[in-house]
Amino acid sequence: SIRAPSSKRTASLLVAVKCRPLTEAEQKRSRHIIQVTNDKSLIVLDPDLSKDYLDLIQNRTKERRYSFDHVFGPGCTNADVYRNISSTIAGVIQGLNATVFAYGSTGSGKTYTMVGTPKDPGLMVLSLHTIFDLIKKDKTSDIFEVSCSFLEVYNEVIYDLLEKSSGHLELREDPEHGIVVAGLRSIKVQSADKILELLNLGNSRRKTESTEANATSSRSHAVLEITVKRKQRNQYQSQILRGKLALVDLAGSERASETNSGGQKLRDGANINRSLLALANCINALGKQQKKGLAYVPYRNSKLTRILKDGLSGNSQTIMVATISPADDQYHHTINTLKYADRAK
Ligand code: ADP
Ligand code: MG
Repeated sequence: SIRAPSSKRTASLLVAVKCRPLTEAEQKRSRHIIQVTNDKSLIVLDPDLSKDYLDLIQNRTKERRYSFDHVFGPGCTNADVYRNISSTIAGVIQGLNATVFAYGSTGSGKTYTMVGTPKDPGLMVLSLHTIFDLIKKDKTSDIFEVSCSFLEVYNEVIYDLLEKSSGHLELREDPEHGIVVAGLRSIKVQSADKILELLNLGNSRRKTESTEANATSSRSHAVLEITVKRKQRNQYQSQILRGKLALVDLAGSERASETNSGGQKLRDGANINRSLLALANCINALGKQQKKGLAYVPYRNSKLTRILKDGLSGNSQTIMVATISPADDQYHHTINTLKYADRAK
């Protein structure tokens, strides 16, 4: 029998902001306009006024002071971010659901945060490590099965990133498992060892398109889903708990209108906005739910939110990592991202 996870916890939303360092190229041409004031707040300096700190003197920085559950500055590693969310990840082996997503403009550090590098592994890799560590340490006689799928939503079409050349995949309502992606490959994993390779291979299959905003702009949403099936056994009965963790590397949040491109690209932009907008609406509803009790969460409006439904509803935990660049030429993107994150809180 499949038991619904214990409903002791209510839906919760945690909002973190992560500012990456200036890249080498940026160090030559850009100024650093982010001041992390403490582990929960930051100030964005106005690129036009901060030269002479006029705004600081006139105490005008108030409008650009933001507070969140966590703020991570350029010196922080992915592991620093992870430390603050690891308890949520641990719930997955108890049958709880969670969603972690990186939101930000192209080049702000979303993929770096979610996938990372061998030296600074990202949240996807660290999560899988935690899951296997906990399973190894588990003292019960329960049997665990861990499986992963990796998909992308591009132009409101779903593709399998674990397949070399995936066709279009469709969503189906399954009476037992809820909303499922029909035909999506799911692989059983025994350890976290090969996951970084797998993610990099999958990411190389993501549809990218050069835009004027950035030559490697990613217009697709990538979703890694880790499912932990736990067979509990005692002398009287056996039951199965199923926890799902979705880790999402969202498409760039910059608006299509700002990239000055037409035709196909503009249509992509419109669809990205549809999924992002739908997600934004769900996140807003979750925020309200947290503050004021029940509110309807509108999942049905995009492929992305339908896929993420289980991880955004009921007693699931949702974590948003808003990524920003410290460079002055990214000021408007940064402000847009922070405003979005601020509304989500
Ligand atoms: P996005 O996925 O949001 O488009 P990326 O993750 O590709 O952005 O990051 C953009 C650039 O910044 C990449 O060159 C990446 O290596 C670099 N970068 C991002 N975060 C960090 C960080 N914390 N430390 C060092 N470099 C970073
Ligand atoms: Mg990326």
